[in-house]
Amino acid sequence: MLKELDLLYLWHPCTQMKDHEKIPLIPIKKAKGVWLYDFDDKAYMDCISSWWVNLFGHCNPRISNAIKAQLDKLEHILLAGFSHEGIIRLSQRLCHLSGFEKCFYADNGSSIIEVALKMSFHYHLNKGKKKNKFLSLTNSYHGETLGALSVGDVKLYKETYSPLFLEGLSTKAPSGKDYEEELKILKSTLEKHANSLCAFIIEPLVQCAGNMNMYHPNFLDEAIKLCHHFGVQVIFDEIAVGFGRTGKLFAMDYCREKPDYLCLSKGITGGFLPLAVVLVKNEIYNAFYAPYEENKAFLHSHSYTGNALATAAANEVLNIFEEENIVEKNAILSLFIKEKFETLKEFKFLTNFRQRGMIYAFDIKSEIPRAGLLIYEKALQKKLLLRPLGNTIYFMPPYVISKEEISYVVESLREIFKEFNP
Ligand SMILES: *Cc1c(COP(=O)(O)O)cnc(C)c1O
Repeated sequence: MLKELDLLYLWHPCTQMKDHEKIPLIPIKKAKGVWLYDFDDKAYMDCISSWWVNLFGHCNPRISNAIKAQLDKLEHILLAGFSHEGIIRLSQRLCHLSGFEKCFYADNGSSIIEVALKMSFHYHLNKGKKKNKFLSLTNSYHGETLGALSVGDVKLYKETYSPLFLEGLSTKAPSGKDYEEELKILKSTLEKHANSLCAFIIEPLVQCAGNMNMYHPNFLDEAIKLCHHFGVQVIFDEIAVGFGRTGKLFAMDYCREKPDYLCLSKGITGGFLPLAVVLVKNEIYNAFYAPYEENKAFLHSHSYTGNALATAAANEVLNIFEEENIVEKNAILSLFIKEKFETLKEFKFLTNFRQRGMIYAFDIKSEIPRAGLLIYEKALQKKLLLRPLGNTIYFMPPYVISKEEISYVVESLREIFKEFNP
């Protein structure tokens, strides 16, 4: 049996493995669109885009074909001293779409956060300023490597490793429409500590792993103005919210002010292959551009940087955005999602209904320990893969989901909640 073999040889991410004594592990045989199929041909709807990476459905034929075509031409080469057409085109396109001027690549989200942190520190150093701290928001999440964890604030992932961290400061995250108090706190933090702060790192609009906390774009504009006034750079971590999730191509597009660094990953290849990028302006790039002897170069690298197969997938993802009017279509779909999910307000133990583009979330008020886990199990019985964050249930589907499938999700949840005793 595959399940037994799995548990014999695998150690799964983000899992207390002992839980699998009770919770079944589900090997998947194949997938198509929003559906995953196990070895008994049972179907599960991927309501969370497989950890927020999938944009256009599993085994999307356009992306599959783009990778297949690339596969027999060039699979991978080192990106130092050498280059390839796909990565050059992708970089040009990302710069044009975002207004940035240079792309630096890594192969997963946490790594690109490390890149942005190191780059910001090094930028100041090259400019003759010794700064060594980062500012982040409470309730933030930026990945699992040590630097990324240092600027994160989800206790569950972070607490154990706190003796290992970089020094940093945090400032209160806004929530909902209000942000005046949070701006004041940010301002006073900057007034006291700007001299030691390299950058303020922030997940724009939605703190996804932080229980889908959503806040107003004006906070971002004001925060960027304040940071720049105090000589502190701004890093936007759009790893989860980039590529249309928030209703625009980038969350940044809701802002008048622009960050100094834009980090992208997750959706960049449509969920097919790992790839990540940080975009910057030439002003930053130029701070590293000097005769070799001056020791100003950014000597960071990963073996799989700019992988040609991942790049082919990413270019096809951009083609799909351009040719299939995805952002416009999602605007209609997200209205439908809102209309359907809001009917769940009939249950008084469900609160804090919220939405930003293609992310919908609400909370369960419940005394049951690990209520989210209970919902996870009930949902599986109804063919839904949901993965609640604590007591927050969220819906973050691939963009190819149909209206019928959305209705099916909401009606299945209604049945679950009818039997649920909070
Ligand atoms: C997932 C995520 C990361 C980390 O990306 P990985 O590829 O999982 O390392 C960083 N920041 C945000 C906002 C994320 O959602």
